[in-house]
Parts: sequence; C-alpha cells; structure tokens
Amino acid sequence: MTVRIGVIGTGMIGRDHTRRIAQVLAGGTIVALSDYSPEAAEKVRDELAPDAKCYASGEELIAASDVDAVLVCSTGSTHEAYVLAAIQAGKPCFCEKPLATTAEGARGIVDAEVAHGSRLVQVGFMRRYDAGYRMLKKVVDSEIGTPLIVHAAHRNPAVPEQYVTPMAIHDTMIHEIDVLRWLLDDDYVSAQVVFPKASRHAHSKVADPQIVLLETAKGVRIDVEIFVNSRYGYDIQCQVVGEEGLANLPEPMAVTRRQNASVATPILTDWKDRFVDSYDVELQAFIEAAAEGTATGPSTWDGYVAAITSDACVTAQGADGAVVPITLPERPGLYR
Ligand code: NAP
Repeated sequence: MTVRIGVIGTGMIGRDHTRRIAQVLAGGTIVALSDYSPEAAEKVRDELAPDAKCYASGEELIAASDVDAVLVCSTGSTHEAYVLAAIQAGKPCFCEKPLATTAEGARGIVDAEVAHGSRLVQVGFMRRYDAGYRMLKKVVDSEIGTPLIVHAAHRNPAVPEQYVTPMAIHDTMIHEIDVLRWLLDDDYVSAQVVFPKASRHAHSKVADPQIVLLETAKGVRIDVEIFVNSRYGYDIQCQVVGEEGLANLPEPMAVTRRQNASVATPILTDWKDRFVDSYDVELQAFIEAAAEGTATGPSTWDGYVAAITSDACVTAQGADGAVVPITLPERPGLYR
C-alpha cells in the first residue's frame, strides 16, 4: 500500500520532509499540503509534489478522505491542535518537536491517544534513528557495564538575536533530553542549571554557555553543556561512563588531512548536515507503521516526558543553581 500523506507547514523542515517522501523514501506519496501562507504551500507543491492538493487549513487537510497520514511541520505552537485533530480522525501522525508547547497540552494528547486505544503519533526526535547513537546504545546496553555518568555537549557556532535563554532548553537541549532517556532506558528525577563565565560572543538575551545537570531514577548523573556561540562548529558530543568502560558517540564521517605539519579533520557547521540520514530513517519508519495504521518510535508519552523535563530545566535556569525535582505521572499501559 502506498501511504497518501498530507504535510501541514511547508517551511524549512516541512519542505525538506516533503522532498524526502517525494524523492528519497519508499511507500509514501504526498497528496496534500497546507501552510499558513498559501503561497508557501503552492511553491512546495510546484517544486516537489505537482499532483498534491493545497488546502486552506490544516484541519481541512486532516479531514480529507484521500489523506491517510499527516505530517505536522508547522510552527511549534500549532502542533497540539493538529495532532489532536489527527487522532480524532484516526490517522497516523508524525509531529515535529515539540509535541506541544506546554506539558498540559502534551498530556491532553496522551489522554486522547489512550482513549483512541492504539498508537497513532510519532514525535520527531530523530536522534534515536542516527546510526552513531544506535551504535552507542548497543555498546551501552551490552559492553560497558552499568552506566554511571554521561557527559554530553551540544554546541552551535552562533544563534540569532531572537534566541533567548529558555530556548537553550526548548529548542536545543530538547534533543538530548529525549535521546539520553532512550540511551539509558531511564527517567529523570531532577534538574539543575549552572552558568559558567559568559562568552563574549553571546548577545545580551542568552546566557551562554550553560550546564544542565540531570539525575536519573537509576542514579546516573548527566552533565550537558549547551554552548550556542561556540564559533568553531556544530558539535554533538556524548560519552557514557560505565562500570566496565567508556563509550563515545562516533564523530561524523570526515576526511582527515595531513598537510603542512598538521593533522586536520573538518567539523560540521550546520545542524542540518549532522542528522540528515536520521531524518530519512525516522520518516521511513513512520511510513511503514502508517501503512499498518499505527505509529512507532518516539511516542506521545516521550513527547510529554520531554515537555515535563524541559519545564523543570527552564525553572532550574532561574533557580540560582537549586535542584528542581522532576516528577512523572504513572505511564499508561499503551506506552509500556
Ligand atoms: P519554519 O521554517 O518557520 O516553518 C513553519 C511553517 O509553518 C511556516 O511556513 C509557517 O508559516 C507555517 N505555519 C505557521 N502556522 C501555521 C498553521 N497554523 N498552519 C499551517 N502552517 C503554519 O519552521 P521550521 O524550521 O520548518 O520548524 C517547524 C517545526 O519543526 C518547529 O516546531 C521546529 O521546532 C521543528 N523542527 C524540528 C527539527 C528537528 O531537528 N527535529 C529541525 C527543525 C525544525 P508562516 O511563516 O507564514 O508563519
């Protein structure tokens, strides 16, 4: 079966996912597009999916009888309503992060999916599909003994003026929040944020760098450095210290040059290049599950836990180094 897919939001990531489905992946076809700006949807249609119909609203797209599954790629604040509408329509839905902009909103989606009785939603936490993280997880699960400590870093070369301190959590560290939980098969119990000396390259509305300290239910201590004005590149680091050894996230493949009495390996500068393959893998998984009328991978529950954890981290940013507890409600059977 070819899954007939509608894409809501044809900005940067919506356009890119449309291209993937139209040109790279198997088993799906783009039949519908919608964007707040109709011209944006028409432009993507003309470029990538000439047979798709453009809808004036996301709700109309979700309701269309020839749309089997939905991709929600619009602005974050609009996700919640569209995902709820997709669940209401019984259609598999891939939702870019965040699932909702508040934990309460994400909880509403959990409740709606539980009431539906089976999984329909995949959240766009693509790092779980990255080959490097998958290799790391295999080693963490079987070769280095019980994990004790994780050292992680998320560095960007620079951020625009609109980037403010809480975005370091909601937009940047949200990926570590999800992937480290998955990597350790664990949940967080507390968060603390400390601020080193600020970089002179950081503008006035962002405290940069910052270090987020998380503790898990199993007692693992995690430090995540978020440094969004690092200048030198887009660099994702993750080291797990276990009882029997250490495991490091592999570096992205790059050609090493030996020249002029030095060894040089280039570092990526654009985040889009770092996880390009994992977007393909996550969406292929979505298409295959949607063909069966279900969803796989990062769940509504994972999106909800990420929202609760993000809120605790943002509270911790303003708490003068205090430890902020993270309490999760009971996990519904659908997500066990
Ligand atoms: P973007 O370029 O601004 O695209 C968002 C598009 O949605 C814009 O064309 C916007 O139109 C449109 N839109 C706004 N409200 C809408 C509505 N109610 N219905 C339909 N369309 C609407 O943003 P983006 O970078 O693609 O990001 C989109 C989402 O993907 C965000 O939630 C972001 O966090 C997420 N994302 C995830 C990753 C990842 O690594 N997983 C990477 C990038 C983005 P206007 O411009 O006219 O408002």
